[in-house]
Amino acid sequence: MNHEVIDGIPVFWASAPGPLEAALVFGCGVRDETLRTLGVTHLIEHLAMSTLPRLHHDHNASVDLEVTEFTCSGQPEQVVDFLARVCTALGGLPLDRIDREAGVLEAEDGRAAAPQTGELLSHRYGVKGVGLAAYRGPGADRIPVEAVQEARARYFHAGNAVLVLTGPPPAGLRLPLPAGERPGHDRSLPALPTGPSWRPEDVPGPGLALHGVLADDALRLALDVFAQRLRDSARHEHGLSYDVAGACTDAGDGRGEYTVLVDAREGQEQKVSELLWQEAVRLARDGVTEQELAEEREALREAWTDPRATILELGAAAARSLFGQPYRDAPTRLAAAAAVTPEQARQAFAAALDTALLVVPEATEVEPRLPDGTPVPRHRCTGHTELPEGGQVFRPALGDRLRFSAARRTRLVVDATGVWAREPDGEVHHVPFDDVAAVEVRGAGRVVFGHSTCFVPVVPDLFANLGPALRAIDAAVPAHLIYHASALRAAD
Ligand SMILES: [Zn+2]
Repeated sequence: MNHEVIDGIPVFWASAPGPLEAALVFGCGVRDETLRTLGVTHLIEHLAMSTLPRLHHDHNASVDLEVTEFTCSGQPEQVVDFLARVCTALGGLPLDRIDREAGVLEAEDGRAAAPQTGELLSHRYGVKGVGLAAYRGPGADRIPVEAVQEARARYFHAGNAVLVLTGPPPAGLRLPLPAGERPGHDRSLPALPTGPSWRPEDVPGPGLALHGVLADDALRLALDVFAQRLRDSARHEHGLSYDVAGACTDAGDGRGEYTVLVDAREGQEQKVSELLWQEAVRLARDGVTEQELAEEREALREAWTDPRATILELGAAAARSLFGQPYRDAPTRLAAAAAVTPEQARQAFAAALDTALLVVPEATEVEPRLPDGTPVPRHRCTGHTELPEGGQVFRPALGDRLRFSAARRTRLVVDATGVWAREPDGEVHHVPFDDVAAVEVRGAGRVVFGHSTCFVPVVPDLFANLGPALRAIDAAVPAHLIYHASALRAAD
């Protein structure tokens, strides 16, 4: 890999066959946002791309949890032109186009992670950093223009960018970005205090998250074997599912979240969820074979040494450099994988299973147990089953209480510390006022989102005579966290 500097921006390049490919990588993504400003990076990306004329060569832009990239491929002069235009646009965003691009973003509904991964990350880390992956945010039309300007100034400049190229920098290449200081990232997210647990969510299939060290080659290889076993069993043997996918998400301090997701054919959610857990326990208990490890090493070798992967490899090196983290090249990673023994893989997986979070589709009931027989509990939002004494109590309207037993058991309590709600099944939700991530105004009501993933709907559809509750919320929550529900979304 070759290193140069152009206009103050590091350029990493390596020669690969085919047309010249380029990626201008910025060290910012969804995990740098907050629930209140979720989508601001994507909005900036769209505003910059909206300035381009019609181009006939491949070009694109994307925002994921970690980085924002502007990519293209084509003739060297096309690449030079694209990069100059993107840099110029980022230096002078067309803020008057926010309304139009907000509508485009809403239609696109881009997600930074698969649904199961998003839910698992928010279960682990709460509604912040990578945990934001599960959320839609307020809608692009509710992001204040000041937040767009602030994020632009903080992240989209020469101090926070790396360019990667699959060939030497072409003649005339300029990167006219504004100057800036590399932003500090508070990457280390404490995991929420939860042991192994499972919970149902609105997901298309089950997913499993294990917390571990990012450079744990034994755990990575064990997870590759695990995913392959699920493919063999859920897809090929039983025809229950189409795809098994894995992801690894950096949560700072060299640690992160390994997720494995399986989709499920309609009606097969229960079976696929049970299968996922059974296979996890079997691997932790009985381990993997040398032949399985050899298969996965071969798959990695194919993927990592394919010349078409050059741009991805360069992009990974760029990201590590932007975050001041070490980059291990493909030969180093392959050598590390070659040294993993079956027993190391089993031990790494078994140890990580103690951190398991399992998410299953709604209405799926599972009874997972750890390899030693300990039951894995269903996650509950709070340890409470009773509402606090002394607050103001709100109930559903009398008519609803007379007709529905569920309404008779539903309660909302607002006290000096925050909002509490009890569902008909007895589950108690709580958002303390000092932990509010955002408040969405829906009609005459409010939905209060906490950083813990708990949220409490304080809405007239559910509770009667809410005036005092609404006034208490508006008085206790800072105004900048309160927004009106997006005009681009149908009320749900
Ligand atoms: Zn809750």
